[in-house]
Order: sequence, then C-alpha cells, then structure tokens
Amino acid sequence: MNDCIFCKIIEKQIPSTIIYEDTVVLGILDINPANKGHVLIIVKNHYPDTITTPEDEFVSVMAATKMIAKATITALGADAYNIIINNGKASGQVIPHLHVHIVPRFPDDGLHLEWPHKKYAEGEIDEIAGKIRGELE
Ligand code: 5GP
Ligand code: ZN
Repeated sequence: MNDCIFCKIIEKQIPSTIIYEDTVVLGILDINPANKGHVLIIVKNHYPDTITTPEDEFVSVMAATKMIAKATITALGADAYNIIINNGKASGQVIPHLHVHIVPRFPDDGLHLEWPHKKYAEGEIDEIAGKIRGELE
C-alpha cells in the first residue's frame, strides 16, 4: 500500500485545492504557504526526485510550471517568484514525490530563501569541475 500523501492527493483520496490538471501533472495550492498563492506542481506518477523522473515527464512538469507561474504572479499581483525543487532529505524535501514549488514574492515579504556563499580553497573549483565533467563523459 502506497502511503505517499501526494499520490493520495492525485488519486483524490485526500482533498486539495486544485488549480490545474492534465494527463501528467496536478497543480494545487500548498496547504502551508510560504506566501499566499504558493503552488505545488506535482508529477502524477510517483518518482522520488528530479533524477528519477523520466525526461519527458520532467519536461511536462517544467512546461506546466512556466505557464502556471505566469498565471499565479498575474493573479496575485506579485513582483517576483521563486521556483524551487527540493531533492532529498538534506535539501529540505519532506514529501519524496517530485514536485515544484512556485512561491509568489513581494517586496519586504519577510521570506529568507537566500543561502550564504561559501569559498573554494586554492584549485578546488577546477578539481570539482573536473569530477563533474568526468561523470558527464
Ligand atoms: P517539500 O519540503 O517536500 O519540498 O514540500 C512539501 C510541501 O507540501 C510543503 O510546502 C507542505 O506545506 C506541503 N504539503 C504537505 N502536506 C500537504 C497536503 O496535505 N496538502 C497540500 N496542499 N500541501 C501539503
Ligand atoms: Zn507519491
């Protein structure tokens, strides 16, 4: 038995405030919004994260995200927006079913989604870039 909350929302076993639906994604309002109008674009099939989601479904998720971000910021009169995907527990992902957050932003809205900027040691940036390039070969 799959006890994933988002699978249950997609199957309409748990109620949600739906703003958009097609064959691949469901768009709902987050129940505990960072700002009012905070949207979740959820892929209908269960995949834990970005890497495990097939390319065609991920492309559909991102196309829906772009379209719904435009509608959301227009509807809310927002100044700006964040588009966020958390992948894995250490990133802050709580529900391991791929979803995109669209967070409408306003000047001085009190949200602090920025992160501190770290420094590389001498030569480290090239070493890390080399490792990533190696995996891409
Ligand atoms: P994550 O941290 O996994 O990227 O984000 C999960 C999000 O799902 C959170 O922002 C949380 O508020 C939202 N959420 C959790 N349970 C429910 C629910 O039952 N309904 C809705 N609409 N959102 C939920
Ligand atoms: Zn699921």
